[in-house]
Formats: sequence, C-alpha cells, structure tokens
Amino acid sequence: MNATQRSGLSVSIQEVSQIFQSNVVALEDLNFSIVAGEFVSILGPSGSGKSTLLRLIAGLDRPTKGSVSVSEGSTAYVFQESHLMPWRTLEENVQLPLELLGKMDKARVDSAILQLGLSDARHRYPHQLSGGMKMRTSLARALVTSPQLLLLDEPFAALDEMTRQKLDEDLRALWERTGMTVIFVTHSISEALFLANRTFVLSAHPGKLILDRKLEIKPGKRDWSVKTSPEFNREMTLHYEAIK
Ligand code: ADP
Ligand code: MG
Repeated sequence: MNATQRSGLSVSIQEVSQIFQSNVVALEDLNFSIVAGEFVSILGPSGSGKSTLLRLIAGLDRPTKGSVSVSEGSTAYVFQESHLMPWRTLEENVQLPLELLGKMDKARVDSAILQLGLSDARHRYPHQLSGGMKMRTSLARALVTSPQLLLLDEPFAALDEMTRQKLDEDLRALWERTGMTVIFVTHSISEALFLANRTFVLSAHPGKLILDRKLEIKPGKRDWSVKTSPEFNREMTLHYEAIK
C-alpha cells in the first residue's frame, strides 16, 4: 500500500435477481451503478441479501438474472471474522497476498502495517492480539495489494463500540487517501452514515433496494463529533423511517 492515488473501480448492477434453490428470493430486480471512488454503505436487516449482493459484486457467485459488471482492476474482500493464520505472525499474515501473487514487497508490507497502526505488534501471533488488532491485521492484509475496490461484510460487528468507532475513523481516512471504491455492509445505521457518502437500504424477503441516497453530511474528514450534528440526525431519522 502506498500513498499514490489509484482510481477506484466502478460497478454496474442491472436487473439483478438472485433466487436460491428453495425458491428463496434473496435479491429482486436491483438496479444501480457506483462510480469510481465512491464509499457506499449497504444497510438492511438480517436476511435481506447484503452478503449475497457483495458476493455477486466480488464475482464469487453469478446472478440468477441480470448483469453485474465491475471495471477492470483489483478487488479485496474483508469478512466479519479476521481469518488470520494462527501459525503466522501479524506481519506474515499481512504479506500473504503478495506471496501468493509472487510479488513480495517489503516496503508495501511495512506501509500497510504502519497505516493500520500495528508496527509495535508486527511480530506477535494472532492469539496475542485483541479483537480490534486482529481486524486491523485483516484490513492491512486486504490493503497490501492496493485494491481499487474494497468490499467489507460487517467487518467490525463483533467489536466493542469504542474500538469500532476508531476503526471506522481510520477506514474513512484510508479511503480519502487512496481514492479506492469502498462497499461496506453493516446493519448499524449510525456506522453506515458515519462512513459513507451514499447508502443503499435493502428490504427483507425479497431483498429489494428501497432507498438509494446521497448523504447530506459534510464530506471530507470525519470524527465522532459528526454524529452529534443536526444533518447526521436528519439522516438517522430518514433511514429509520425507510427501514421500519
Ligand atoms: P444478509 O447478509 O443480509 O443477512 P444473506 O445475503 O446472507 O443476507 O441471505 C439472504 C437470503 O438468502 C436469506 O434468506 C438466506 O437464508 C438466503 N441464502 C443466502 N445464501 C444462500 C445459499 N447459498 N443457498 C440458499 N439460500 C441462501
Ligand atoms: Mg450477511
């Protein structure tokens, strides 16, 4: 990971439905496009198809109907669990994607570790890390290849509130520095609004896009205090009304 600006990827979803074998309509007739460099949060209750949608965008699954297209470039995926290899140190976990690509680059590993604030812990093993540090390591591992599209599926849901807020702030700052496109799945409305510039809300059974909104919250650097602003509260109300 380095500070050079790389353009993000764009995503286009047209008339997409995903129906599973037991006739579960996980997603129904979705249409949207995401332009390069956007930060989009996807909100919705459990079972509304958020993970299904992220998997389609990642190319892990194909839709039953419609088309998913993502511009050419590199993608990284972060899951709710950190999925670290217990026999590898933090540093060895972060460098893994570069090893797999045959493109080991010590400077990139150092930079990713530094940007996630993990330098002092680089030689520790996963069992010696807190939950927040494990998730930071997982993020550093995702960012080490300088992805142009970062997909995150409820990555911070298991963390305590203060650790989660700090990670949200750091992720938002990383996004600002890199210009990558970020799609972040969460069921926390306040987290979604804090992070993103645009939100999608999915309904449950079937998963339909019931809100696609450009947020009217100040762009640029954000810290926790934005959550006390009138514009943030207006967005909270609007999203609660849409979801209930
Ligand atoms: P979310 O991430 O919003 O909680 P999911 O995308 O995991 O929702 O699931 C949406 C719906 O699709 C749920 O009803 C779920 O049970 C169903 N589903 C997800 N994956 C599969 C699968 N591989 N096979 C059958 N049903 C699935
Ligand atoms: Mg999910």
